[in-house]
Amino acid sequence: MVQAFLIKYAEIGIKGKNRYVFENALVRRISERLERCGGDFSVEKEQGRIYVEAQTEFDRDEVVTALTHVFGIAHICPVVLVRDKSFGNVCKNLVEHMQEELGDKPFTFKVFAKRSDKEYPMESPEICAVAGDYILQHMENARVDVHKPELKVYIEIRQRAYVYVTSIKGPGGMPVGTSERAMLLLSGGIDSPVAGYMMAKRGVRIEAVYFHAPPYTSERAKQKVVDLARIVSEYTGEIQLHIVNFTEIQLYIYDQCPHDELTILMRRYMMRIAEQIARDRHCLSLITGESVGQVASQTMQSLAVTDAVCGMPVFRPVIAFDKNEIIELAEQIQTFETSIQPYEDCCTIFVAKHPVTKPELAKIEASEKKLEEKIGEMLEKTIAGKEVLSVSPE
Ligand code: ATP
Ligand code: MG
Repeated sequence: MVQAFLIKYAEIGIKGKNRYVFENALVRRISERLERCGGDFSVEKEQGRIYVEAQTEFDRDEVVTALTHVFGIAHICPVVLVRDKSFGNVCKNLVEHMQEELGDKPFTFKVFAKRSDKEYPMESPEICAVAGDYILQHMENARVDVHKPELKVYIEIRQRAYVYVTSIKGPGGMPVGTSERAMLLLSGGIDSPVAGYMMAKRGVRIEAVYFHAPPYTSERAKQKVVDLARIVSEYTGEIQLHIVNFTEIQLYIYDQCPHDELTILMRRYMMRIAEQIARDRHCLSLITGESVGQVASQTMQSLAVTDAVCGMPVFRPVIAFDKNEIIELAEQIQTFETSIQPYEDCCTIFVAKHPVTKPELAKIEASEKKLEEKIGEMLEKTIAGKEVLSVSPE
């Protein structure tokens, strides 16, 4: 019976002190994620590995699903722990485990052995040979293939013996919390949740800001963003979601400025507000779901004019993705169904029929001069009046 999971991680270049930071963060992220599974687990690191051991009954599928949400994990191997590590007993447990995992499906295999208990009476090559014979004698469906085995059978002799044959792909990446903190501009669309996911996969802790424009945008549209943040938080852990009421600023821009510039002007104010909140929250960068050429505000000129107001790096991890590629990822991380719910976005309400696609910075700055009288005070009031929600996974 599987009572434990061996967690393999692989990130080239994590050496020395970085390795220790990576491993400790991974142990913490695994422990936090497992708190939401039924059962009690210990999570220990040992010689370049992490072992998750169940102290009580648990649901294997639930634990595997939880672990596939933890960035930094390359592979998850369900393991049988053998306390009485006399070799006959190890082989018996191994074959029972293989029967459970494989049933009577034919397969080819090769045995791999590791022995860190140097007192153990057999050496690794002998362990492989004898265990291989034992498997052949007890499983009619087994055949050896030392070159291209379908199944890699692992036996590790440590304090206890560990046997495993199954390896489930983890999400890869780096544990959240190892690469600083960033502020995601999270809309209700398809792209920004994917962008947040991608940065979190690189170990970045995510906070999020959403701009709404009540009564032009509804409570349902806001709820959709909360729902999206919740799905993303399954991977990132708790997300602080800052909800900014953008109505007054939007109306002011709408009154004062040329309508074909509305989108770009609004985007510049969104970035300014996002950056201010980001600084207050010790975030070192902004993240958006922009992709070159996707819409008028995502031409290279627009992106440049938007970036001109930002004093911190703006990361756009889906910048070079086709919409279909973004959708594929959105489906994989399960944000897609929520993203396509038809609630209006705060930008679409104030969008011009023919927005400028190649804005010039000088012209845009000139338009913003028309806002000088009230905008400073409005920005302050808008930021002070934001709502903050802590969004946690289900
Ligand atoms: P998405 O699918 O993420 O909504 P989009 O293709 O609709 O993107 P835009 O509406 O131009 O593109 O927005 C580009 C990016 O700006 C979004 O990916 C998001 O990061 C940010 N953004 C847009 N609207 C909002 C909003 N109301 N609140 C927060 N961020 C927003
Ligand atoms: Mg959008």
